[in-house]
Amino acid sequence: MDYLLTEEQQMLQDLARQISEERIKPIRARLDEEELFPWDIMADLAQADLCGTIIPEEYGGLGLGCLENCLVLEALAGACVGVATTYAASFLGAYPLLLFGSEEQKQRYLPRLAKGEVLAAFALTESQAGSDAGAVATTAVKDGAFYVLNGTKQWITNAGEAEINTVIAVTSPGKGSRGASAFVVEKGDPGISFGKKEKKMGIRASVTREIILEDCRIPKDRLISKEGMGFIATMKTLDNARPGAGALAVGLAQSALDEAAAFAKERVQFGQPIFAFQAVQHMLADMATKIEAARALVYSVARYIDSKPREYTKAAAMAKLFPTDMAMAVTVDAVQIMGGHGYMREYPVEKMMRDAKILQIYEGTNQIMRNIIGLALNKEYARKK
Ligand SMILES: Cc1cc2nc3c(=O)[nH]c(=O)nc-3n(C[C@H](O)[C@H](O)[C@H](O)COP(=O)(O)OP(=O)(O)OC[C@H]3O[C@@H](n4cnc5c(N)ncnc54)[C@H](O)[C@@H]3O)c2cc1C
Repeated sequence: MDYLLTEEQQMLQDLARQISEERIKPIRARLDEEELFPWDIMADLAQADLCGTIIPEEYGGLGLGCLENCLVLEALAGACVGVATTYAASFLGAYPLLLFGSEEQKQRYLPRLAKGEVLAAFALTESQAGSDAGAVATTAVKDGAFYVLNGTKQWITNAGEAEINTVIAVTSPGKGSRGASAFVVEKGDPGISFGKKEKKMGIRASVTREIILEDCRIPKDRLISKEGMGFIATMKTLDNARPGAGALAVGLAQSALDEAAAFAKERVQFGQPIFAFQAVQHMLADMATKIEAARALVYSVARYIDSKPREYTKAAAMAKLFPTDMAMAVTVDAVQIMGGHGYMREYPVEKMMRDAKILQIYEGTNQIMRNIIGLALNKEYARKK
């Protein structure tokens, strides 16, 4: 399919694909096996000027949009979703600043992120606040020129590695989602520490840890936007990031298909390559069709977001839901086509199937995506009556 990408978009895609092929693929199995954080690859991405794609030019970035971000994420996930998640999570941490930060905050943080000197993290989830983001219990209490934060954030990607942590905390208890605010907490601030590295099923090159805030005292100018804007900043951040999760799914699924198809050409049973069996061809045909449908959806939603519509929550949820469910199904089928070989760690589809699962869970589970889409449909059809 020709998606009519511009020359600049194709060059960006080629650059990301080159890094994937030359730098990530050769070491992805070791990163996964030994659970190594991919600092070297982050340095390569910085060197290639890929850390500031969505950061405006006035802050040292490339000033590109959601589609370009998706092209890079798709290419990186084609090699390793763990590495691509590390890269993507930094943008997740940057979005609240990009969307709601003051000029002074943008000047202070975005240029270093754009250069790839530092990473960011986005800290919303807590033990009792997973899908129910309104149940956040971390507090931020104003004390003169400071805020004092207390609470524990759970399963935060890049925690402990990121210098810049966007933390959602309650400033007005009892006000529900309108009582939450967003703050920047730096890695070196007094009162911040990090839990153990979680042992995960997949994306094991990415790091997932708690962020523990104990009387963490930060200057009051670290508040992003105004008190009470934390929930809105979170929702807008996720709306912008979700097509990226879809792009990771497309890149992953494409690689799984490529592996399965190449294997099917080589593997001979009953005197012929298994590719010749119609049952196998039909599986490959379904995989290829679903991948193309997901890619078309991600690109079109990304282009829509780049056109700066007022509202794109439903579209963003669709661009996460369909591709990530698709990637789970496609990676399971890739293992099936490869039979016992597919189950062995020696072949990459085993890792791909493990990596696919998280895409249906983080940045809002796929049940929550269906809730969001269902709610939007309910409103749309109520208006049509
Ligand atoms: C590897 C990893 C990395 C992560 N990175 C980050 C990060 O960087 N920052 C961050 O803030 N968070 C992060 N998370 C947290 C992630 O976003 C949450 O795990 C996710 O939102 C789901 O929350 P939960 O796990 O508590 O599940 P729960 O909310 O407890 O849900 C459990 C099950 O119930 C279902 N469910 C819950 N409520 C509903 C409902 N209303 N309708 C239908 N079904 C429902 C869910 O879909 C799910 O199947 C990460 C998680 C993991 C595992």
